[in-house]
Amino acid sequence: MDNAERTMAFLFALRSRGVRDTRVLEAMERVDRAEFVTGVFSDRAYEDMPLPISCGQTISQPSVVGLMTQALDVQPRDKVLEIGTGSGYQAAILSHLARRVYTVERHKRLARHAQDLFDRLGYTNITCVAADGSRGYPEQAPFDRILVTAAAEDPPGPLLAELRVGGIMVLPVGQSDTVQHLIKVTRTETGYDYDELLPVRFVPLVEGLSHE
Ligand code: SAH
Repeated sequence: MDNAERTMAFLFALRSRGVRDTRVLEAMERVDRAEFVTGVFSDRAYEDMPLPISCGQTISQPSVVGLMTQALDVQPRDKVLEIGTGSGYQAAILSHLARRVYTVERHKRLARHAQDLFDRLGYTNITCVAADGSRGYPEQAPFDRILVTAAAEDPPGPLLAELRVGGIMVLPVGQSDTVQHLIKVTRTETGYDYDELLPVRFVPLVEGLSHE
């Protein structure tokens, strides 16, 4: 398969799994997933499956990245917070849709690697922070959009608090290795609305910074 055919097949897989928002599809077309997958798995970068990255973590399945990004409904002026940088792939896609992206990762090695990659690829509107994202990122709160790419039992309180009124948060909830659901939380003037989107499987949201 040449590059053009590979891109067509990649986009076709996204569409057939329900990613229809053209802005999301365009952003995903512009980010080469192979840059974010290293080692032996790099030749599988264009397949619609999660793949292992370092520190025992995973880069999410492209169609799930697409569905989460679509549900987040990012607007061009938005300041977005992502929890769980991992490879940096999701943050790179968000950076094409938003004004500013802050992404928080508890594994220092992953955070450093992702920041180096953003610098090398010229993503100047992403800042990667090595910290415990279950506390959010108070330095830059409130956020228009928050995306969590690791599963908690319930939406963490600090993240709910850091969401602007009218803002949207998308996150997987449920116990790890059992059933998790992707949910969409919208902050209203008086509280929060919750919508359940689809069943998913993510690594757990773990509290505390890891020095690995
Ligand atoms: N969005 C990533 C996939 C992330 S996998 C990508 O596009 O590649 C989930 C990531 O969340 C892992 O790297 C894990 O280390 C991180 N994580 C888990 N708990 C966290 C926490 N409390 N704070 C920040 N990152 C966390």
